[in-house]
Amino acid sequence: MLVLVINSGSSSLKYQVRDVEAGSVLAEGLVEKIGMGNGGDGDGQVEGPRDHAEALEQVDGAIHEALGGRTLDAVGHRVVHGGERFAEPVLVNNEITRAIERLNPLAPLHNPANVLGIRAIAKKWPDLPQVAVFDTAFHRTLPEYAWRYAVPDELYTNHGIRRYGFHGTSHEYVAHRAAALLDVPVEEFDAVIAHLGNGASVTAIRGGQSIDTSMGFTPLEGLVMGTRSGDLDPSILVFLGRAGWSAEDLDSMLNRRSGLKGLAGNNDMRSVVEAAEAGDARSAMALAVASYRLAKYIGGYHVAVGGAKALVFTAGIGENSHQFRSLVAARLGALGVELDAGLNREWSKEPRVISTPGSVLPVLVVPTDEERAIAEATAAVVARSSVAP
Ligand code: AMP
Repeated sequence: MLVLVINSGSSSLKYQVRDVEAGSVLAEGLVEKIGMGNGGDGDGQVEGPRDHAEALEQVDGAIHEALGGRTLDAVGHRVVHGGERFAEPVLVNNEITRAIERLNPLAPLHNPANVLGIRAIAKKWPDLPQVAVFDTAFHRTLPEYAWRYAVPDELYTNHGIRRYGFHGTSHEYVAHRAAALLDVPVEEFDAVIAHLGNGASVTAIRGGQSIDTSMGFTPLEGLVMGTRSGDLDPSILVFLGRAGWSAEDLDSMLNRRSGLKGLAGNNDMRSVVEAAEAGDARSAMALAVASYRLAKYIGGYHVAVGGAKALVFTAGIGENSHQFRSLVAARLGALGVELDAGLNREWSKEPRVISTPGSVLPVLVVPTDEERAIAEATAAVVARSSVAP
């Protein structure tokens, strides 16, 4: 089955065409600067379409040759927010599109763009099945005591303020691959998974399901990220609000000027590690803050799952930064975690174990592939719906 995977942002559209059975990528690319005028056509990247529909025309042109006369069978959309309704991927129709649109207030930067992408496809290829795959869906198994914030009940009942969690597609995919690597049925897999990219979250997995996760109402909560603060005392915001900061000022400070960038002046982990190794004290402190925060979560989630059977690293930093992995592992001695320095340093794109045989908890690196997970989920939903009576 040929699936076009779409990750639609407010001004960008990332795409990949995948042959699901062959597990191959036929084409991929990024259309940027949507709605920002005509930027021309450079480096094989097309840019400057007026809207998502025009962006899609560019994608169509770009994938034409790669398809080699074959036609697409389905489109899979990464949709950021599925709210409380969507616990799994769904076939899109008008009612589902409107339901995703109703969730716009919960993800104002993301869901409107997802809806634009869905509508643009429906207009261009009305007969092509579309599937929405939600970033929040995997976390719909959180128990209420894990998703509740201890605030007045009406904030939940009137405004939907609760923990939703994100990166679910990645956490689920990685949980399956990690369980397979350890030869454990996923239904019996208890683990802590750290997805460490520019955005970062950690998830407690019990019996293959998410039972807690560090991102919350929005993707801001939890770990120290590239430019996001993660956890802090909410009174800081009250304090700053009283000092005259606007909601926009606070939003920008927390989401774009904090995290590694706020602490070290750089949001790229490679640069932060290099600077720390060259003796920059701010960068070393940023790494200490980030690794300490993550180690605390891992300890907490080890308890939450009743004794994890594995610790798994994934995404840009988790897969590539042996330095950051060893900083985290060094704080986990109390859990009996022991990395094999040689295995930790080796790079591979395959899932692998990087701990010593004596480590109480095996430590794994498992590369994530959200596009593959979305394509596979899309194919499964389409196959199910076409056999339905
Ligand atoms: P992602 O959002 O998953 O693409 O991850 C982005 C993050 O991964 C950035 O902080 C990068 O600096 C980091 N990253 C990517 N490659 C490496 C590498 N080889 N070593 C350290 N960090 C890396």
